[in-house]
Amino acid sequence: MIGDVHGQGDDALMRLALEEAQAAAEAGDIPVGAVAVLAGAVVGRQHNRKEDLADPTAHAELLVLREVASRLGRWRLPDVTLYCTMEPCSMCAGAMVQARIGRLVYAVDDPRAGAAGSVFNIVESPALNHQVQVTRGVLAGEAQAQLAEFFAELRQRRREKGLAVALPSGNL
Ligand SMILES: [Zn+2]
Repeated sequence: MIGDVHGQGDDALMRLALEEAQAAAEAGDIPVGAVAVLAGAVVGRQHNRKEDLADPTAHAELLVLREVASRLGRWRLPDVTLYCTMEPCSMCAGAMVQARIGRLVYAVDDPRAGAAGSVFNIVESPALNHQVQVTRGVLAGEAQAQLAEFFAELRQRRREKGLAVALPSGNL
């Protein structure tokens, strides 16, 4: 067990996921974090590492499922709750169904790729053999602000880079 958080509510656990997301942003990855909780204890915490690992599947949610399964020595995780700063994509939502995750709590919707109700609803699909209990919108404003800040800084860096490239030719 990484730490005992017994008695803390969804907000407190989502804050840990937001901390993970911030670590992703600082490493140059889109800020998405995921925390896994079992019986009141944090049993996994990960952030998006796509750029870091050059791995298209290195989403926070997938990494945390692997961490927890490895730690517990089992792939069925019906007693685990996942706290994610963003609605999971189809890959991660599929993995949550594969892992028989009991509950998913997420912050902000992803209208472009979300697979917990926005574009698809894989986690609650009656067509599949497992449905996940979903709680949406926990600290959504904070997660949204974190994403907005990341993309604003990214745009700023690109603008600065563009200017640096443009200057020499302007001086010729
Ligand atoms: Zn994903």
